[in-house]
Amino acid sequence: MNFNEVLDDCKVYEAGKPIELLVREYGIAPKDIIKLASNENPYGTSPKVKKKIKELVSNMYIYPDDSMYELKEALANRFNVQNENIIMGAGSDQILDFCVKAKCTKNSKILMSKTTFAMYEIYGKQAGATILKTKDDEHNLEQFLSMYKEHGADIIFLCLPNNPLGECLNKDDVYTFLDEINKNTLVVIDGAYQEYASFKDKKKEIIASDLINKYNNCIYLGTFSKAYALGGMRIGYGIAQKNIIQALFKLRPPFNITTLSLIASIEALKDKEFVEECISKNFEEMKRYEEYAKEKSFEYIPSYTNFISIKLGKLFTSNDIANALLKRGIIVRNLAAYGLNTIRITIGSKEQNTKVFKILDEVLEKLK
Ligand SMILES: *Cc1c(COP(=O)(O)O)cnc(C)c1O
Repeated sequence: MNFNEVLDDCKVYEAGKPIELLVREYGIAPKDIIKLASNENPYGTSPKVKKKIKELVSNMYIYPDDSMYELKEALANRFNVQNENIIMGAGSDQILDFCVKAKCTKNSKILMSKTTFAMYEIYGKQAGATILKTKDDEHNLEQFLSMYKEHGADIIFLCLPNNPLGECLNKDDVYTFLDEINKNTLVVIDGAYQEYASFKDKKKEIIASDLINKYNNCIYLGTFSKAYALGGMRIGYGIAQKNIIQALFKLRPPFNITTLSLIASIEALKDKEFVEECISKNFEEMKRYEEYAKEKSFEYIPSYTNFISIKLGKLFTSNDIANALLKRGIIVRNLAAYGLNTIRITIGSKEQNTKVFKILDEVLEKLK
C-alpha cells in the first residue's frame, strides 16, 4: 500500500524506556527500577492533586468542559494574560503539532538547533517541510540569525532551556534576536523547563505576557509534565496573541484534554509550594551529579533543567554505559542517536541518586 510520501522521511519518536520493559525483559522488580529517562518529577504528584482526583474520579464518564474555562482562567491569572491568549493541548507536544500544521506545507522551512527536542523535526517532516539546523549542538543565536538571513524560515524553534542538553539562552539575547525576525515567521519558545531555569537564574526567565506583548509572532509553550509532576495526564498550554491562538484552534480535536487532566492541572496550579520545593531539591541533588562527574573527570553541560547531560570522553561509550545501567534497573537517556557520546540523566530523588552513583561506580569499574 502507498502512504503519504512525506512519511518516507519520517522517524518514529523514541520515548524513554518504560519501567514495564525492564520488568518483562530482565525480570527486575518494579520497586528496584529507577526511571530517569523522561525528565518526570521524581517526587511524584502533589498530595493535594491526588486527593482532588480521588474525590472527583467518578466524573470521568462525562466529557470535559471543552471551553476549559476554569483552567484557562487559572493560567490567565498565573501568566497575566487573557483567556483568549491561551490554548490547551494533550501535552505541549500537541501544540507543537498545531504550530507546524498552522504554518507549514511542503515548501516551508523550519529552523532549529542541531541538538534539540526531537519532535520539532518529526512534526516538521510530517508536514513535508525542510528542516534547517544550526551547526553547534547547543543553541547559538549568531548561527540562527545567519541561517535565517540566508534561508528564511516559516517557524523557528527555541528550546529554553534546551532538552536534551540543558543549556539556556539569556532572555535579553533572545529578545535581541527576535528584533531581527520577520513578523510572518512564527517563533516557538518551548518553555517546558522554564520553571527550573527561572528558579536558578533570573536572566533566563521568559515572562510569557511580556514576550507576546513585545512580539506578536511568538508563542510560549508550557507543560504540566515536568515541574508540575503530571506527565501521565498529558496536559500543556500555549500562550500567544489572539490571532495565533485562533488559527491553532482550527486544528484542535474536540475534548483534547481529559476530564481528570483538567481537574489535576487546576489543582496543581494552586499548589505552588509543592512545585517550588521540588525545584529546590532538584538543584540540590544536581550538585551531587556535578561533583560525581568532576570526580570521574567527565565533562557535563551546566543545566537549567531537571536533568544533566554528561559527556563520557574517550574511555567509555554511552551505549555501553546506558545498557549496563539498564540491566541493573536504571533507565537513562543515551544521546548516541544525536551523534553524541553523552548520557542524559533526569535528576532523581536523594535515595534514587545515591543508588545511581553506587551502580555507576560498579558499571564504570567493570567497563574500564
Ligand atoms: C517534555 C517536553 C515537552 C512537552 O511534553 P508534554 O508532556 O507533551 O507536555 C515539550 N518540549 C520539551 C523540550 C520537553 O522536554
